[in-house]
Amino acid sequence: MKNHPNPKGPWIHRFTIRLFTLIFTVLVYWALGFLVQDIQSIKGPDYSEIEKEYVDQDLTGRIKELNSGIEDLDRSISSKQEEMRLVDDSSENLQKTIGQLIELQKLSIEKSVALSESDQQNLNESLNQFLESQQNYQSHSEELTQLAQQKRTLQDEKIQLEKTVADQREPARKEFERLKEKHDWKLAALQLAILIPLLAVAAFLVIRRRESVYFPLYLGFGIATLLKVTLVIHRYFPTRYFKYILVAVLLLAVARVLIHFIRMVAFPKAQWLTRQYREAYERFLCPVCEYPIRTGPRKFLFWTRRTVNKIVIPREAGQEEEPYSCPSCGTVLLEECPECHNIRHALLPHCSHCNAEKEITGSGTESSAG
Ligand SMILES: [Zn+2]
Ligand SMILES: [Zn+2]
Repeated sequence: MKNHPNPKGPWIHRFTIRLFTLIFTVLVYWALGFLVQDIQSIKGPDYSEIEKEYVDQDLTGRIKELNSGIEDLDRSISSKQEEMRLVDDSSENLQKTIGQLIELQKLSIEKSVALSESDQQNLNESLNQFLESQQNYQSHSEELTQLAQQKRTLQDEKIQLEKTVADQREPARKEFERLKEKHDWKLAALQLAILIPLLAVAAFLVIRRRESVYFPLYLGFGIATLLKVTLVIHRYFPTRYFKYILVAVLLLAVARVLIHFIRMVAFPKAQWLTRQYREAYERFLCPVCEYPIRTGPRKFLFWTRRTVNKIVIPREAGQEEEPYSCPSCGTVLLEECPECHNIRHALLPHCSHCNAEKEITGSGTESSAG
């Protein structure tokens, strides 16, 4: 007979439980992530707004004008350079033509033949054109110099203004950083205000409901929350603070485990069990499953841990005590004493009639079972 049912189930069920615990953990982590992200997306200070307050807008406007002026000049300069290249090319061609015509002229002089009318005319025209294009080039070059000068003037002004604006931007940046830090603190506080209570609930469940069948749920919830809290703290708090928080948490966890083991060594399990059993018997509740021990005058009553002291016991002639097993979990609770044959508590060390001792071990419930 099994008194303390501790069903393990087939491996496939256990595997499924583990798998779903994992999935549950991931989902909780996800959900918390959405929550944190939503808080994260609360709008912070706007730098351009702050800059407007600190930096003279006329100056920035003027800088913009200067920039577009410089761009225009750049365009004019490059188109001017292109034109000059073209003029240069054409004068080079003219030079070649003129060279050829002069060669022709030399030949005709050597042969004492007059250069033909048309060639002579060509030569003159080419020479004229060449001079013209040279002039053209000259004037283009002057214009280019002027453009470059203008550009330099604008650039000088721009550099001056930018220096002034940079000086004005300095306090704007500081103000922005101050506001940003404040905003970050606000976000961190908001996120932790949601996460920390959840973590507290999780910690409570994990520590206090260790025996519960729903423990995997609590554990998954706890792990996900802890992970999220750690990440949030890590994001907002400088590593300087973070390491203290981390160390504190680790210290607590290690101390908790240590205390657990020290207590296990200092107080053997049987002692704990006896205490637990004693308290249950005092309340007339099954020490294993907390179902009421309904025997004797309490046979037709019902109570719980909380209401046990409030119920009124009917004053009837005391019924004969008899052996009793919990109808809910089957644990033997009252049994015949092997020494004096009276009825004694099956889960407490001594018989209340003859003081005969019996050993309550960790598996006491099992050994007391028939
Ligand atoms: Zn029971
Ligand atoms: Zn006895």
